[in-house]
Amino acid sequence: MSDETPICSAKGCRAAAVWVLAWNNPKIHTPQRRKTWLACEEHREHLSQFLGVRGLLKDVILLEEWEAPEGA
Ligand SMILES: [Zn+2]
Repeated sequence: MSDETPICSAKGCRAAAVWVLAWNNPKIHTPQRRKTWLACEEHREHLSQFLGVRGLLKDVILLEEWEAPEGA
């Protein structure tokens, strides 16, 4: 167990992450595989556009929902 605050994945950003961007690169990953980037409010749009224009973005989920166990 760790209570370390997850940090935004944007370059140079040290803000606490609020969003999880789930993505998959079909050239590298199997279809079920999900890579994740974390994003603060400020960088959510920037990072999701980066993935979106490449066709890699699958989902944008609130971090608290991502961490919550399914059905809890
Ligand atoms: Zn950020």
